[in-house]
Amino acid sequence: MSSSARLYQEAAANVAHAADAIGMDPKVRAILAQPKNELIVNFPVQRDTGEYEVLHGYRIQHNNVLGPFKGGLRFHPAVDLNEVRALATWMTFKCALVHLPYGGAKGGVAIDPSTYSQHELERIVRRFTHSLGANIGPEHDIPAPDVGTNAQMMGWMMDTYLNSSGTDDRQNVRRVVTGKPVELGGSLGRDSATGKGAAYALRHLYGEYDRTLDGESVAIQGFGNVGSHGALALADLGMRVVAVSDITGTVHADTGLDVRALMAHAREHGGVAGFPNADTLTTEEFFALDVDVLMPAALENQITPDNVDTVRAKVILEAANGPVTAEAAATLDAGGVDVIPDILANAGGVIVSYYEWVQNKTSDQWSEADVDQRLRDTIWNAADRVVARRARDGGTRRHAAYVEACALLQRVYELRGIFP
Ligand code: NAD
Repeated sequence: MSSSARLYQEAAANVAHAADAIGMDPKVRAILAQPKNELIVNFPVQRDTGEYEVLHGYRIQHNNVLGPFKGGLRFHPAVDLNEVRALATWMTFKCALVHLPYGGAKGGVAIDPSTYSQHELERIVRRFTHSLGANIGPEHDIPAPDVGTNAQMMGWMMDTYLNSSGTDDRQNVRRVVTGKPVELGGSLGRDSATGKGAAYALRHLYGEYDRTLDGESVAIQGFGNVGSHGALALADLGMRVVAVSDITGTVHADTGLDVRALMAHAREHGGVAGFPNADTLTTEEFFALDVDVLMPAALENQITPDNVDTVRAKVILEAANGPVTAEAAATLDAGGVDVIPDILANAGGVIVSYYEWVQNKTSDQWSEADVDQRLRDTIWNAADRVVARRARDGGTRRHAAYVEACALLQRVYELRGIFP
């Protein structure tokens, strides 16, 4: 079985396990067991050489009982149908857990964006948007950035959609994408939202332990949007960021890395490798670091049966989607390692995407402090619900989070009924 097929199977198993726990209505269970809509688009794009290439894009809409489909777009060579199905499924349960009026979706194009020029990337984004056509929309399905995509690309996407809309609607549909540059209607605080949200989820957990984050050590895998802003938020809360790894390598300093300087270095050099005053580690050494917290913020399937026995961290903060496989999670749980599940730990991104959408609907702009406070309260309220559910029913944090989400989805189906 391919790793993406296993990923999707694991996503479905989490849902099935939680559905068992609440005795979910079989109709609702059957609906949630697969995506509602699956779209594959094959579209041509002209390279700078004049040659044409046909690219493969996906948009999977898992569920929309709570509101419009919502989820990021990923540009990565490993993107395929099963990976996007798993990511779309997680979005449904993430939005339900944090009580957003959104359903779950995800999309992607199977490319390595680092091998395309800016002009080529712009053509890819515009052509992909055009191919998706009316399958996305401000009240229907709202994309956002994910791995390999960024605010600029959301700007091109918005512009393409606007130009294909009627003149009456044009200024009214900017909210068709979130994670846009602030000048185009993006929200203040959206770029740092996922990393900050992860930091708030960790602070909540430490509150449960009756401890503070001050001086605690953290190792972070991935230094893109989520990893770099997460590192900054955790350092600002007093933590020692002792190691950071990305695609270029791993840097390590027991006394703590200067995160702002590392961000400047990564911007200038394309990654963390070569950062002065730090030693380097192999991937194996990175995962085996004796740290208080390990924060995977890169891709799925990073902590697996192959390396889980080497992990010495006491807490895993799943800032990435699906970084710990089900088998590895069971080993961690048996060893007393606390895992803050992805659908809570990285919900900050979609929470502030929702704030952006609301601000666009009302032609308003909230201050960064306002966004930040709402984000913190929303993450903490969801974390409270997970703690309460766990106190009542037992099980892991991940299971409690899925049970909470399933209970809401079941209730909404009960109230709405199933059409016709
Ligand atoms: P990004 O493209 O900005 O950054 C990805 C980072 O991971 C880069 O630093 C890259 O070098 C690193 N990386 C890739 N492969 C690696 C490897 N094998 N070892 C070490 N580092 C590696 O992506 P992002 O937006 O930061 O997303 C990271 C994760 O967070 C993904 O799982 C994504 O789905 C999830 N997520 C993102 C958001 C968001 O708002 N961007 C929201 C929720 C969840």
